[in-house]
Amino acid sequence: MPELVFFSGTMDCGKSTLALQIEHNRSARGLQGMIYSRNDRAGRGKLSSRLGLVTEAVEAADGMDFYAHVVGHLSSGGRVDYVIADEAQFLAPEQIDQLARVVDDLGLDVFAFGITTDFRSKLFPGSQRLVELADRIEVLQVEALCWCGARATHNARTVDGRMVVEGAQVVVGDVVGDAGEGAERHGEVGYEVLCRRHHRRRQTAATARAAALSPDVLPVDAPK
Ligand SMILES: [Zn+2]
Repeated sequence: MPELVFFSGTMDCGKSTLALQIEHNRSARGLQGMIYSRNDRAGRGKLSSRLGLVTEAVEAADGMDFYAHVVGHLSSGGRVDYVIADEAQFLAPEQIDQLARVVDDLGLDVFAFGITTDFRSKLFPGSQRLVELADRIEVLQVEALCWCGARATHNARTVDGRMVVEGAQVVVGDVVGDAGEGAERHGEVGYEVLCRRHHRRRQTAATARAAALSPDVLPVDAPK
């Protein structure tokens, strides 16, 4: 039975690497995938992993109809054996419904890869729809660790190393003016994965290091 599978996790959990692995394994067996990505780090029309691997992809634009796109490719003589959708958290809910229709009406496996929650620990709309519709959810936990060594389960947005909890869900580019409260006009926006404890306490690697160096601050776990 064809399936809609949602591979989810934090940033840096190896989602794109697994997407490329699935693509490699299937193309080695002579199968042809339709690969979509959006806002990939390597640029438009690319699917890349942090380890440096990259493949061509179709850029999933706003309002693009996935079902119509696959049908269009098939009806113009193209071949599609399976579908990969990377950065699926950025897709609109109706686009996830279209991917489900690709599974049900065209009989193709669809592998969607995405970050589950944003820097406020709220579900991305695309990820929420995937949780609602997927036949199967695979939670990836590949070596993503908080600075404390615990498993990283939450994404934090930082501005100049300090965690922020307000701002647009998606910001394009590294330096923005509306990254959130506490963001200076020219603040450097970054992302960091944290365990839930340190996400709740808003302790990033940088602020933990600063606190450890400050003579005014006693260690939290100081023996009584
Ligand atoms: Zn931690």
